[in-house]
Amino acid sequence: MATTTLEHDVEVSEAKPSAVKYVYFFGGGKADGNGKMKDELGGKGAGLAEMTNAALPVPPGFTIQTEACREYMRRGSVSGEVDRQMEEALARLEKLQDQQLGIGSNPLLVSVRSGAKFSMPGMMDTILNLGLNDESVEALARRSNNPRFAYDSYRRLIQMFGNVVMDIGKSAFDEVFEGKKKQKKAKLDTDLDAAALKEVIAEYKKVVKKHAKRDFPQDPHQQLIMARDAVFRSWQNDRAKHYRRINNISDDLGTAVNVQAMVFGNLGETSGTGVGFTRNPATGAKEFYGEFLLNAQGEDVVSGVRTPVHILELEKIMPQVYNQLREITSRLEQHYRDMQDFEFTIQDGKLYMLQTRNGKRTGLAAVKVAIQMVEEGLISKEEAIFRVEPNQLYDFLVPRLDEKSVKVEVLATGLPASPGAAVGQIVFTADEAVEKAGHGAKKNPVILVRAETTPEDIHGMEVAAGILTSRGGMTSHAAVVTRGMGKCCVAGAGDIEVNEKGREMRVKGQTFKSGDWVSLDGTTGRVIKGKLSTMPPKADDPELMKLMGWAEPFRTLKVRANADIPRDAIQARAFGAEGIGLCRTEHMFFGEEKIPHMRAMILADNEKDRRAALKKLLPMQRNDFIGVFRAMDGFPVTIRTLDPPLHEFLPRREDLMVDIATFSTLDAKQKKALIAKYRDYGAKAAGDLKKLLPALLSRVEQLHEFNPMLGHRGCRLGITYPEITEMQARAIFEAAVAVAKDGVKVFPEVMIPLVATLKEMANQAAIVNRVAEEVFKEKERKVDYLVGTMIELPRAALVADEIAKEAQFFSFGTNDLTQTTFGFSRDDVNKVLPTYIAEGILKQDPFAVLDRDGVGQLVRMATERGRKTRPNLKVGICGEHGGEPSSVEFCHQVGLNYVSCSPFRVLTARLAAAQAAAGDKLKGEAGRTK
Ligand code: ADP
Ligand code: MG
Ligand code: MG
Repeated sequence: MATTTLEHDVEVSEAKPSAVKYVYFFGGGKADGNGKMKDELGGKGAGLAEMTNAALPVPPGFTIQTEACREYMRRGSVSGEVDRQMEEALARLEKLQDQQLGIGSNPLLVSVRSGAKFSMPGMMDTILNLGLNDESVEALARRSNNPRFAYDSYRRLIQMFGNVVMDIGKSAFDEVFEGKKKQKKAKLDTDLDAAALKEVIAEYKKVVKKHAKRDFPQDPHQQLIMARDAVFRSWQNDRAKHYRRINNISDDLGTAVNVQAMVFGNLGETSGTGVGFTRNPATGAKEFYGEFLLNAQGEDVVSGVRTPVHILELEKIMPQVYNQLREITSRLEQHYRDMQDFEFTIQDGKLYMLQTRNGKRTGLAAVKVAIQMVEEGLISKEEAIFRVEPNQLYDFLVPRLDEKSVKVEVLATGLPASPGAAVGQIVFTADEAVEKAGHGAKKNPVILVRAETTPEDIHGMEVAAGILTSRGGMTSHAAVVTRGMGKCCVAGAGDIEVNEKGREMRVKGQTFKSGDWVSLDGTTGRVIKGKLSTMPPKADDPELMKLMGWAEPFRTLKVRANADIPRDAIQARAFGAEGIGLCRTEHMFFGEEKIPHMRAMILADNEKDRRAALKKLLPMQRNDFIGVFRAMDGFPVTIRTLDPPLHEFLPRREDLMVDIATFSTLDAKQKKALIAKYRDYGAKAAGDLKKLLPALLSRVEQLHEFNPMLGHRGCRLGITYPEITEMQARAIFEAAVAVAKDGVKVFPEVMIPLVATLKEMANQAAIVNRVAEEVFKEKERKVDYLVGTMIELPRAALVADEIAKEAQFFSFGTNDLTQTTFGFSRDDVNKVLPTYIAEGILKQDPFAVLDRDGVGQLVRMATERGRKTRPNLKVGICGEHGGEPSSVEFCHQVGLNYVSCSPFRVLTARLAAAQAAAGDKLKGEAGRTK
């Protein structure tokens, strides 16, 4: 397909003029495009077109659409037709402005701005003041009668152009600039005068020459073409790719390029630039919200070079501008029927709008704003359901700091940039964050502390528990990105002095180093010394309940929780779980009083000893089940029989060998420690160890497997050691009967893991059914129950119609089903996954998002086949995927009865299931708020 497109393009560009409209003009009160054309114009371009059509004050310009970027990606350059249409649009702009790009006494200057369909904050860069060169800068100085402004603009251009287009590191320019500030004893960038800035320009040019081996280009048209192509290239940079990966944005979209006449916020004290939101994006409160800086340009507000001023201050400084801004932004909000995030610039007291878009917000804000907008009559309740991303509900579940138990020392208060609490050890760089945070079982909470974050920090931000910055506002990179991630962030804590090179931070006369503990409260902005504990949140927020109340009637898929112990079951029920979809019994055996019996059971090499050990386990297991059944009174509870390879409960072979080899050299104290280590295996005195250790080693060697994931586990355990299934079934039914006698409504569902054949299922079901009858007879009481299976092997999916003859329900264990379908080991997949995703071989981690094409097909097929045999077959899913919105949507589409997920994902799954069902009914497009 790629070839045909390519041929087509070549043919078109060489023959008659292309039918493709690459360039869309906006200005003079009218735009070629409009707000709906995000696919072509990107979000920014569509917004500029829409605002222009609404007669708002927008500097004129044109948008080169995303097709040109896709073309650039395919062939490495744009076609002549793009150049032609661009020159045409530029000529039109020059005419409208009565100026020429970079030429004459009143030169036209433009910005070159990237803008994709979905906003990618800070991922791609913008170039301002393009068109300036050694000549036009003098013209600008004369014309504005403000040489300082002209040189400031020029040095900014060289800096941005050098960085974005010529790939020169920002630090090379920063060094020059900071050096000049030091030399001139200037505190702020605005303290440098025209003469100093001229020196900066001269030095910047040297930096360009040195790093790029060429001069800064003086020809304005050449600047424009180079800048445009650099924006196209930036679509493929690592930061952009990474951002797209985290946010599930397709790599194929491409970005548009906006070329727009400059307006200047750096003309002096009657000029400025700012950003804002029509409502508070952290809390959702209906208040005008934002920040601005006088005598500043572009990114100054968000980059943290100076600390910005609250937008309400603008009312005092320039009341007319303030009122106009309020009027315009409320109009935009009404028009888009959503909270807007906007950019503006004031040039000599005149207001210009530079951007508007639906604002990113926290989950708390998303719910609040959705409800407000329904009450204001702006949107319907059905629309409101889609205004919240299911994953965002997690924000309601973020922990708070427990401040009662300890003395709290507040080190500093910054901005409450992203809510929740985070407690962790300080790290100062993104790489250090990745290194110290670890993964899997060895995860450590780290707090990434930076003066300010940049897109280069994204990998560190992803693994950190929380982010703390000393500079930047509520719209800084750190704030915006963490809100998107649902991660706690305190930004702009100005009292903290961060020394990234020296790896320390100083505040209140104290010094903190890498590894020291701090606690962050992202809801109030406080930075607290030391390691506080956190408290679980409450999920009964009245506004959340209200929104869920609107969503729930649509939902047809049931939501259950995966919970092994009564405490988790109670928690899950509070979040609205309608049963347990997976209760893993092996977790019950790790308790202190149980593990010795469990180990005795495993070590037994004959049935008699095994039965003796199992007998001790039975009452403990029964008690666990009683607790879970009680917590889920009225709802079904699915209990899985023992699943993992047995050696997970035993010491490692290597450890045993070392202990045996070194035993004779140990002193008394060391021997004592060794006895303690093996107490669970029956060691009481040093003498015991002599016999015990070799016996243990030999059993461990017997149990050793080359590939335990595919080994002696699942129903294979219950088939080789039927007495294990027997004991577990007995514990389940004795518990069920016991609670039923107390009036608890109990519905046990016994689930056999890792079944591949009908006979395996039949074998285990026979044991369960026999034990059930025995227990019911003994206790003179019956309960309703089901025996079913997990579908987690491709073979099981293939012969699902057979298996359904014996299985009364299916539950897709999509973790194992993904492992076995792909042949990926989940624990090892990270060696290949990053490359696979970077290369586009896989779009997503299939262990996070259900692979619809492959694994999903098995799910669909097994459901259909199973129901052919047993029309009322209950089917659910109990992998990690059960709480992931897109996978939940798929489960709804396939017609499953329920999804089951971890307790903290229950709310998310409920909303995702409701959205999936409402989407069927409303044919509405799910609104992306992130
Ligand atoms: P981003 O997507 O990173 O926000 P933008 O393209 O919006 O990048 O631009 C970066 C900054 O430059 C913003 O503050 C924006 O308002 C400002 N800016 C962009 N174009 C112009 C222009 N023509 N005149 C004045 N300021 C501009
Ligand atoms: Mg930017
Ligand atoms: Mg912007």
